[in-house]
Amino acid sequence: MKLSRLVLASGNAGKRRELDELLGPHGITLIAQATLGITEADEPHPTFVENALAKARHASAASGLPALADDSGVVCRALDGAPGVRSARYAGAAETLPGEHADQANNRKLVAALAGRGDPRAHYYCVLVLVRSAGDPQPIVADASWHGRIVADARGSGGFGYDPHFMPDGFDQTAAELPLQTKNRVSHRGRALALLLARLKDESLV
Ligand code: IMP
Repeated sequence: MKLSRLVLASGNAGKRRELDELLGPHGITLIAQATLGITEADEPHPTFVENALAKARHASAASGLPALADDSGVVCRALDGAPGVRSARYAGAAETLPGEHADQANNRKLVAALAGRGDPRAHYYCVLVLVRSAGDPQPIVADASWHGRIVADARGSGGFGYDPHFMPDGFDQTAAELPLQTKNRVSHRGRALALLLARLKDESLV
């Protein structure tokens, strides 16, 4: 079986843009779960991989199709790993505010939390989970990190989430200033997806 259509278990437009750009050339079309009337799954778990698996299963069970989930976030050493799995909901606004306003509230809270701590180091983490069906006993899992630091002043209008404040190691531009193709080449999501695609090739799924 070759995968040609995958339900994306997320309503995050930024993730979708990046994953579309990476999967399109491999002949895989992503279907946003909302277009099938599928609501967001709960993410109650303390680890990214558990949340990703819960989201992928939920989307596959509701659609009857293979599903891909991305669980990701930003992890700060000085904050004992926060915002971590709660990155989307860090300022508590994700349920009540539209995406970019929730992003702004999250960014304000993160910059304030790190102020005066003397250690701005942070990394993004992404785990991708693909299930062929809701009961798939062998989900395909791939993950990657992207290291850098949080800067107080926002720069750039690309990307999403914490990107205007994330300065990746080896760059003097924030993630929001990088062209999409550059971010996808080096980011947590881009590199996790490259690993996932290698697994899909091994399994003759692409
Ligand atoms: P999730 O939807 O529960 O996986 O939460 C992901 C959250 O992590 C996003 O809403 C962002 O706040 C943050 N995040 C993950 N990846 C990125 C990225 O590539 N850029 C900026 N923020 C990200």
